[in-house]
Amino acid sequence: MSWDRIIGQHRAKELLRSAVSGKRVAHAYLFVGPDGIGKDALALEFARVLTCSSGLPDACGGCPSCQRMETLRHPNLRLVFALPTGKSEKKGDHPIEVLTTDQVKQITEEIQKKAADPYYRIAVPKANFIKINSIRELKREASLTGAEQGTKVLLIFHAEEMNTEAMNSLLKTLEEPLPDTVLLLTTNDQDALLPTVVSRCQVVRCELLSEDEIAGALVGRDGIAPAEAGLVASVAHGSYSAARDLLSSDIQKQQTEAVEFIRLALGRSRFALMKEVERLAAEYDRPALERWLRFMESWLRDAIVLRERGIRPLMGDGASTQRFVERFPTADLPAAIGRVEASIAHLDKNLYLSLILSNLAIDLRKLITGA
Ligand SMILES: [Zn+2]
Repeated sequence: MSWDRIIGQHRAKELLRSAVSGKRVAHAYLFVGPDGIGKDALALEFARVLTCSSGLPDACGGCPSCQRMETLRHPNLRLVFALPTGKSEKKGDHPIEVLTTDQVKQITEEIQKKAADPYYRIAVPKANFIKINSIRELKREASLTGAEQGTKVLLIFHAEEMNTEAMNSLLKTLEEPLPDTVLLLTTNDQDALLPTVVSRCQVVRCELLSEDEIAGALVGRDGIAPAEAGLVASVAHGSYSAARDLLSSDIQKQQTEAVEFIRLALGRSRFALMKEVERLAAEYDRPALERWLRFMESWLRDAIVLRERGIRPLMGDGASTQRFVERFPTADLPAAIGRVEASIAHLDKNLYLSLILSNLAIDLRKLITGA
């Protein structure tokens, strides 16, 4: 089952498999959903299925076509993503030939990383948008009669990075589909695309992954210990990539700091608390602070599980959770968790980080001590 390479996304997989088995493959698909849940991975596997010589809804993995797809070097596959603009690049220039040797090397390396790991996010330095010349080249190549038989796949990663001109150029291809050619687009922001582009694609909605799916992938694919995988999955917000980013950050440090913050909020020294608030506000940006708050949330959840069901947390310092639960037996922990979530929501607004944190500390004290 070639689709097993993709984490979760059962609904999307079934939709794509049945399109192939029922010979109802559309001309264009748009994979929509947040970052890190596997839209690119789904699109790449679908490309493998469409080009596989077996014609089955699961790629055989053994034919020459499948083997070439492993390296993403397949004559019938075209990948489009944001690229740097070449020095004095003009409309109609080849999007890659205008770049320096170093840049071409970087691009090749990025494609190799993507081939090795479909969950890898391609990032070429100074590439901020998908160039009109990339779309033109895509159309030019697609219209050539390929040396290779079979379906051609044109795949655009992060389609929202096309500017209006590029989207309009793509629209013509969508209006007059080329024979034996399937266009696949992935995006985290459907609203950033022209409505006319969206309406010409079959939209494949991709779902947030469950904690079990993320934890299972971290253990199975990345060799992470189950306890650590479970903790990271619980704060990754349904995104496998976010979970992997968390692993590279210092989990233990963030968790210790989050617990220390609660301790200071409950303690007597307002000065020590404010000093810590200022330090956090200076050291962390908003995304980092969100992760940090999610660790606090997961620590409070562990405290509920310990209090209600007597189960000690797997990760971190179980003893501190035990002491906390004994000392504050009537703490309103569900409300405290709700309060942490409210702080996470405030991060999106343009509020001072120090204000968000000091208000959180005041409210946590009330909710935990009842005073
Ligand atoms: Zn095959």
